[in-house]
Amino acid sequence: MRYTTQFMLSAMAAEQFPAPDVPEVAFLGRSNVGKSSLLNALVGEKAAKVSQTPGRTRAINFFQLSEEGKAKRKFIFADLPGYGYAKISKSISAEWPKFIEPYLAERETLALCICLVDSNISAQKGDILLLDWLRSVGREFAVVATKADRLSGNERVRNLAALKKALGVEELLAVSSKTGYGLKELWTRIGEAGDEASAE
Ligand code: GDP
Repeated sequence: MRYTTQFMLSAMAAEQFPAPDVPEVAFLGRSNVGKSSLLNALVGEKAAKVSQTPGRTRAINFFQLSEEGKAKRKFIFADLPGYGYAKISKSISAEWPKFIEPYLAERETLALCICLVDSNISAQKGDILLLDWLRSVGREFAVVATKADRLSGNERVRNLAALKKALGVEELLAVSSKTGYGLKELWTRIGEAGDEASAE
């Protein structure tokens, strides 16, 4: 399925979120994990550019996706601010704006959180904290390991197994924005979440 993507808005507070009308998919990850590149590969350069515009990096940037030729939106993608390497406090990240946690805990149409980790490095404290926190609020998530093209076959198997163990997940989808590896599977996962949400 080909989608047309349109930027909706950058929200800095809950009052600015778009109407909760279609299944939403949120993208989360540490700064530099490859989130912009992945969004770029999934929905096009414009989306990634918007999210990197100064002033929008601490906002939730919302995009709507519609099937080609149709006006009605089918999904919303929410690009969340990258969380830092810096101090991670009792909340997920001290640098995260205050409205992020309530968004993740309460947004009624949020069907899936795509949590990005770097396949080339071991699990980071912030990643572990984020997943634990999502579990504690009962939010569905899928963990996606980025930059898989940088690893040889053996390294990939080894790193993914170690990441799964450290993050406590059974499924880990390896992707590369550079080569397109895993993107079809990621679209399938996104589609399933949308179908489940629409069936409820
Ligand atoms: P963000 O901060 O999470 O948005 O990360 P970016 O998308 O800006 O990527 C951070 C760095 O990782 C950049 O230098 C990218 O070129 C590189 N990068 C991102 N995705 C990939 C990938 O799939 N393969 C490789 N080899 N490099 C990547």
